[in-house]
Amino acid sequence: HAKETNRGGSEYYNEAMNYSARNRIEMIHELNQAIENNELSLNFQPIVEIETNKIAGVEVLLRWRSKKFGHVSPTVFIKLAEQSKLIVKIGSWVLEEALKALGRFEAAGFGHIEMAINISVIQLMQHDLVEETRILFDKYPVKDKQITFEVTEGLFINDFEKVRTTFDALEALGVQISIDDFGTGYSSLSYLKNLAINRLKIDRSFISELHDKAGGEITNAVIALANNLNLRVIAEGVENVEQLEHLRERGCDEAQGFLFSKPLDFEHCIEFLKQDRL
Ligand code: C2E
Ligand code: MG
Ligand code: MG
Ligand code: MG
Repeated sequence: HAKETNRGGSEYYNEAMNYSARNRIEMIHELNQAIENNELSLNFQPIVEIETNKIAGVEVLLRWRSKKFGHVSPTVFIKLAEQSKLIVKIGSWVLEEALKALGRFEAAGFGHIEMAINISVIQLMQHDLVEETRILFDKYPVKDKQITFEVTEGLFINDFEKVRTTFDALEALGVQISIDDFGTGYSSLSYLKNLAINRLKIDRSFISELHDKAGGEITNAVIALANNLNLRVIAEGVENVEQLEHLRERGCDEAQGFLFSKPLDFEHCIEFLKQDRL
């Protein structure tokens, strides 16, 4: 059960171990050309508001179909992209493509859909993400609070002041901040009071353990914490109705997972959204 209980680290470790060191170097080389070679695409996974059972938004999830390696899991290639710093270029591509997709959502009648975009710690700390966001927001029809950046909490130990000023600047641009994989990092919780954060996203590993005493208690505690701090709270990896009912009873705001939908390409996502509107 190590894979499920120690999700973040060991899952990547196991999957990455399927590739030799040489393969990984070659993979970075391929990844460097993936944009030019049209190998990257975006998927969208619906996020549901639990109270109304309506779709509140989508999370953007990057996909890489490599000519050489086939379909590579993001848990593998995102780590490689971070190690090689390619994530700055790839992250910029994701951000612009995602904002472009807003226009397509609008044309299909879903102009108000909220969109969550994963942002790597490297993009946040080693790149002028605020300036980039400002420029792209001028270029595309982005509405106030329509975009959420999902960041993992591990980064906060590094340079708290930089994180604080970056989050403040993003907030001023109308970006919401969500802490992804909440509960798996090593940060002190005090940052929740001192940073412009809007949402906590409970990691899938806790949701998959909801039937356990310990898993349930952690999820319950995170929901209570979020409610007390006036943060919205979302559960990821919701796969069955029992988990959803547990979350509903405890006052969790939003849920995302295979129970509702897998990540979908744009066309299938629009179909899904249209059904929701009926
Ligand atoms: P994440 O941000 O925590 O995204 C959620 C992951 O859980 C996604 O995996 C999604 O497909 C998967 N998932 C959603 N619902 C369920 C469910 O009910 N059951 C199970 N078993 N899995 C579910 P995916 O797409 O493989 O992405 C993995 C991670 O890669 C993401 O975790 C995120 O950290 C990273 N990632 C993906 N796209 C991007 C990106 O554009 N930029 C950055 N920096 N990271 C990305
Ligand atoms: Mg995420
Ligand atoms: Mg997540
Ligand atoms: Mg996760």
